[in-house]
Amino acid sequence: MSKTLKGKVAVVTGSTSGIGFGIAKMLAGAGCDIVLNGLTKDPEEGRQIASSLEKELQTRARFHAANMLDPDQIGELIRFTTEELGGVDILVNNAGIQHTAPVESFPKEKWDAIIGINLSSCFHAIQAALPVMRKRGWGRIINIASTHGLVASKNKAAYVAAKHGVIGLTKVVALETAEEDITVNAICPGWVRTPLVEAQISDLATRESISQEDAARKLLAEKQPSLRFTEVDDLGAMAVFLASDAAAN
Ligand code: NAD
Repeated sequence: MSKTLKGKVAVVTGSTSGIGFGIAKMLAGAGCDIVLNGLTKDPEEGRQIASSLEKELQTRARFHAANMLDPDQIGELIRFTTEELGGVDILVNNAGIQHTAPVESFPKEKWDAIIGINLSSCFHAIQAALPVMRKRGWGRIINIASTHGLVASKNKAAYVAAKHGVIGLTKVVALETAEEDITVNAICPGWVRTPLVEAQISDLATRESISQEDAARKLLAEKQPSLRFTEVDDLGAMAVFLASDAAAN
């Protein structure tokens, strides 16, 4: 891959697995120095993921264990990135969780956690990173929303509300930065076969006594006309494009 983003520093929240890791890897492949983040069993596991990325892609990679539920820790993630790698040019707000249940029995603590991790963390990270981008006169903010930022499904009250919120937040910050060399975009993936979706496939397979593969096909048939999962590398390539000069306006 050509190093079109050489010299840029990127932070990707929730990047120890799934889509976030795929995006971090593609940004690193395009030359970015990277800070990974996520909930791992201990910080050493996160540091090892960063160290393998560094060796594989010959770029600088660090790990910070900020919990996206805590605005102070999100501020520390941005400060850490600036101190370790010299700034924040690209912020990818990707951390997210899911819980499914009908609205009247939706656990209140799951509502709070989903709104906190999937939506409020984007606000806190943007608020912390934007002044750093403005000082450097360049920035790219990429929020990982979802098709559920555009349409709804039953049993996903918190997730759908949070992802619609991410799209609203994206539009506001895009307007507020429109005259600067800072862009703000949201990506709305359909189904991607990550740990977050494996859990939904397993639930459906158990509930309907069908195989994992039949459950996967059934989920796809609900909302994804191609009947194919989107690959994390496709989303990584989209993030690299949105960070490139081609997407500057
Ligand atoms: P995943 O479970 O593989 O990854 C989630 C990441 O978020 C992990 O690195 C995890 O450690 C991190 N995380 C969770 N809670 C955290 C917290 N409190 N603090 C810090 N990190 C935390 O899931 P994924 O499917 O890769 O999802 C990534 C994003 O993509 C989410 O925002 C999700 O809503 C969105 N998305 C996923 C799909 C899909 O089909 N998989 C579709 C559309 C959008």
